[in-house]
Amino acid sequence: MQAIQFSQTGDASVLQLVDIPKPTPKPGQILVRNRFAGVNFIDTYFRTGLYKTALPSSLGQEASGEVSAIGDGVTDFSVGDQVAYLANADAYAQFAAAPSDSAVKLPAGVSLETGAATLIQALTAHTMVTRTYRVQPGDWVLVHAGAGGTGRLLIQLSRHLGANVIATVSTDDKAKVARAAGADHIIMYSHESVPERVHEIVPEGVHAVFDGVGKSTFEGSLESLRRLGTMVSFGNASGAVPPVDLFKLSAKNLTLLRPRLFGYIVTKEEKQHHMGEVFKLIDQGKLDIQVSGVYDLKDVAQAHEDLEGRKTTGKLILRIP
Ligand code: NDP
Repeated sequence: MQAIQFSQTGDASVLQLVDIPKPTPKPGQILVRNRFAGVNFIDTYFRTGLYKTALPSSLGQEASGEVSAIGDGVTDFSVGDQVAYLANADAYAQFAAAPSDSAVKLPAGVSLETGAATLIQALTAHTMVTRTYRVQPGDWVLVHAGAGGTGRLLIQLSRHLGANVIATVSTDDKAKVARAAGADHIIMYSHESVPERVHEIVPEGVHAVFDGVGKSTFEGSLESLRRLGTMVSFGNASGAVPPVDLFKLSAKNLTLLRPRLFGYIVTKEEKQHHMGEVFKLIDQGKLDIQVSGVYDLKDVAQAHEDLEGRKTTGKLILRIP
């Protein structure tokens, strides 16, 4: 089968289209004929070596397609079911085997494109606003990179839970995307001071910051919080946050968390709960997944370059031949 692999870390040019054997499903797994795979910022961290992996390595955390075979003991799925699933860093391929409890049958009306675009970013946003920091009605929250895949969903879910949302973006076009997702206020963090603008909008500061940008925003995020506020640092789009001086938290008795989606969806019950909630919200029209770029599998390097080059909004997916 065709798959994307890299045998050395580096820029997007290390990504190669290769022929490798098709996997066979182990007990408890389903084999999926992939049609679309989601592109996530985390894929770039493995490719650059920020997150360690054995080489040569496959890539890709999620995909959608049809079940083409089932392993022993799998009772929830049949051959031919259309599914979306969380992959073991091997979704950029024509086939992948995944644990059946990491998959969900696509509800009627949800396309394969949307299926591939949903799980990682929507589960991240859902676990962050319900478990990392429980967003409450009337809260003020700050969402960085509000036009991005995860940012758009954090805005929508925070609004759905009754919060007032301030979002940061780098361009006017991205401001429109973040506003359309529900942001009440926009900060152009390319040339405006985030803490200054936040304190103009809400003098006490925000209750919580959802920060997937990392190095370039971390300090301003802490300054934007009110007393007893919560800093959720969940990504490194601008680079990893350097070691933190804990005394920075004590002036306002801040809470600092650095969560990982996969730490919240360990059990089958946790996976089913969050997947169920996400697809219910999509079905109810309360969560809108925006696929803004579809690239052929062979053009994966371009997708990575566009994502890292801050050229994109919403979600990018790969079309699998
Ligand atoms: P996005 O679609 O949000 O793309 C990243 C965005 O970050 C860019 O569009 C850009 O928006 C902004 N950004 C700011 N500074 C930079 C920079 N120096 N280089 C590149 N981008 C920059 O990506 P995702 O939704 O896939 O991921 C968002 C974040 O969430 C990532 O950090 C990712 O690692 C994290 N994440 C964490 C998870 C976890 O388990 N902890 C799970 C899933 C995602 P703008 O131009 O407006 O600044």
